[in-house]
Amino acid sequence: MACPTCSSDNPEVASYCHRCGTSLLVGDAKRATSYAVQSAEGVTQFAVISTVMPHTSRHSADNYRWAMIISGALILAAAALGLLPIAIAAAAFLVPLAYLVYIDDVNLWEEAPAAVVVGLFVATGALAVLISMFFFQWVFDAQWASFASGSRARGGIEAMSFPALLIFAVLLPVVAEVAKNVFAVLLAARPQFDDMIDGLTFGVAAGTAYAAFETIVVFWPVFTAQDFRTTTGVASWMIVVANVMVVKSLIYGTATGIAVAAFSGKGEGYDGFTPTYFAYFGLAVAANVAYWLGVRLMAYLPFGNGLGLIWGFLILAALVVKIRMMLQVALLEAAVEEAAKGDGSDDKRSTYVETYCPECENLLLTNASFCIVCGTSVRSSSRQARSAMGMRPVGAATAPAAEPPAPPPPTGSTGPSSEGGAE
Ligand SMILES: [Zn+2]
Ligand SMILES: [Zn+2]
Repeated sequence: MACPTCSSDNPEVASYCHRCGTSLLVGDAKRATSYAVQSAEGVTQFAVISTVMPHTSRHSADNYRWAMIISGALILAAAALGLLPIAIAAAAFLVPLAYLVYIDDVNLWEEAPAAVVVGLFVATGALAVLISMFFFQWVFDAQWASFASGSRARGGIEAMSFPALLIFAVLLPVVAEVAKNVFAVLLAARPQFDDMIDGLTFGVAAGTAYAAFETIVVFWPVFTAQDFRTTTGVASWMIVVANVMVVKSLIYGTATGIAVAAFSGKGEGYDGFTPTYFAYFGLAVAANVAYWLGVRLMAYLPFGNGLGLIWGFLILAALVVKIRMMLQVALLEAAVEEAAKGDGSDDKRSTYVETYCPECENLLLTNASFCIVCGTSVRSSSRQARSAMGMRPVGAATAPAAEPPAPPPPTGSTGPSSEGGAE
């Protein structure tokens, strides 16, 4: 049957068009109920793992979910015991380290293994330390002190320092967002990382790295305190740890992910500093400003820490849904444009032999961009899955389509067994 969107010919059994992903059963090109990255989920579903780790399959996403839940519980237990230095440090780095493991695990970029992302992590982290020292210790330390003591004393909203609120909830998020974007955008501009999913990945890595290093600077007094173990206010410390570990980290990551994904844009090549990029950059800043204004102001209310945590979750949910809507539109529209160009035999991101879908294990057609059974985009598959699926490696993107994939670069005495450099 011919697809109503792109006119490609599909087998009678197809539920989804193999070229553009249109749902053939309901004739729906937008697929609101079926996320192109993970077709079993809806587009507007609050599913964090499949959003920030689009290359996971349903099975591997479960492993990450459980690893995060168990680690998170242990960190909260450390906070409950009052072991704040351990709890804060582990909470700060849980999400970014899990993200590095994910990137290494799915081996996203054949020619540029996880070392590239470690570099991004360290460079953004160093910038985060500098900016955080500048704001919290070197220049605005007086405002920070007045602000922090004001909220803790619960002297009412009148005790709040308005300049401090502007500095730490508005000015700092603007400066920080530039720092989170700068190295991620540099990487996303490289020709081998031109996919929107690549941009999203760099943005999340940079944003979570920034969050971790900022947390360490802000909570530095905890690490230099006389007593290693705290016994007072443990309950509110647990909420602070939960906020730092999950909400702050993921808000920073997803917001920057949105901005850098917009820099990458859909299809081949990167879009660059377009008005769309600046609009999404503004959205990222707005999300951070809203988060910090809420957290700082709610600190004056009863149960302020808990309210701040809930407020952060709401913003995070909105950011997650925004990313999913962005990727959905980008994957489907890019596929329609590709389908309009030809039969897909020169599309470097589709399959080039018949193979199997990593999600549902049904047969994938040759030159397919989507599984005809479950509708999952083949572009969201991991590198191992891609090579098992007989796809052109992403690293061969710059080579003319008629040529075979480039051989791996010589790796010296280690030989071909060092593939991925993960040893
Ligand atoms: Zn189609
Ligand atoms: Zn499938």
